[in-house]
Amino acid sequence: MNIERSPSFVLRFKPGTFPWPEGKRVAVSLSFDDARPSQIDAGLALLARHRARATFYVMPLAVRKDLDGWKRARDEGHEIGNHSMTHPCSGNFQWSRVRALEDLTLERMRADIAAADEEIRRLLGVSPATFAYPCGQSFVGRGVERRSYTPLVAESFLAGRGFREEVHNDPGYCDLAHVGAFDFDNTTFEQFLARVRAAEAERGWLVLAGHEVGLDRPQSVSVETLNAVCDYCAEPANGVWIDTMAAVAAYVRKTQDLGVP
Ligand SMILES: [Zn+2]
Repeated sequence: MNIERSPSFVLRFKPGTFPWPEGKRVAVSLSFDDARPSQIDAGLALLARHRARATFYVMPLAVRKDLDGWKRARDEGHEIGNHSMTHPCSGNFQWSRVRALEDLTLERMRADIAAADEEIRRLLGVSPATFAYPCGQSFVGRGVERRSYTPLVAESFLAGRGFREEVHNDPGYCDLAHVGAFDFDNTTFEQFLARVRAAEAERGWLVLAGHEVGLDRPQSVSVETLNAVCDYCAEPANGVWIDTMAAVAAYVRKTQDLGVP
């Protein structure tokens, strides 16, 4: 995929004027991280009932635990995205201390992401188009050596997804290499409604990022919320384009590059 951005890229969209396709007023992408088993066990059937496509950001080691399930996710039209090989996060998470971002270099991060890409291709036969930053963190190193690894993501992927942002994305402005996402876990439909209406008012792109599906525990999206969100997005009067990160990002990229005639 040619991911070189035209050097003449300039902002050409006034806020709130982005032309979503087919008269839609807002885009919604649902994403789930870490290839948790409940995504297959509870998530796939629910999404299929609503004919909703989601993006699953996977680590190859987790995919291997249920390869048939992940092939099914792929075959049902969901996007399989890259979530790195070893899921490095800040060493302030004690479980990540042995592979802490503070101790990594750009070269090692690049190799980790590339290894995941290769293994996902080998296991599932798909080449990930988008990436999700583990823990939403996009740096390596510390102090004067600290660097953003977003440029690596920009070189290799159509889009990179963050986590726990506080605002939806303005598709006429946003940096596709770091697309903001709200936390989807343990949220209610009412919270979604407030967010999607705020995004709609500005013709924005609302991205949600969750982990488990239907488990009664932290880091899980409830069946009730997911059903209600899918129902809302499927209702034509609500003007929602619900699609994968890759599908929406490809449209945003093309439209940003074309600009306003
Ligand atoms: Zn993760």
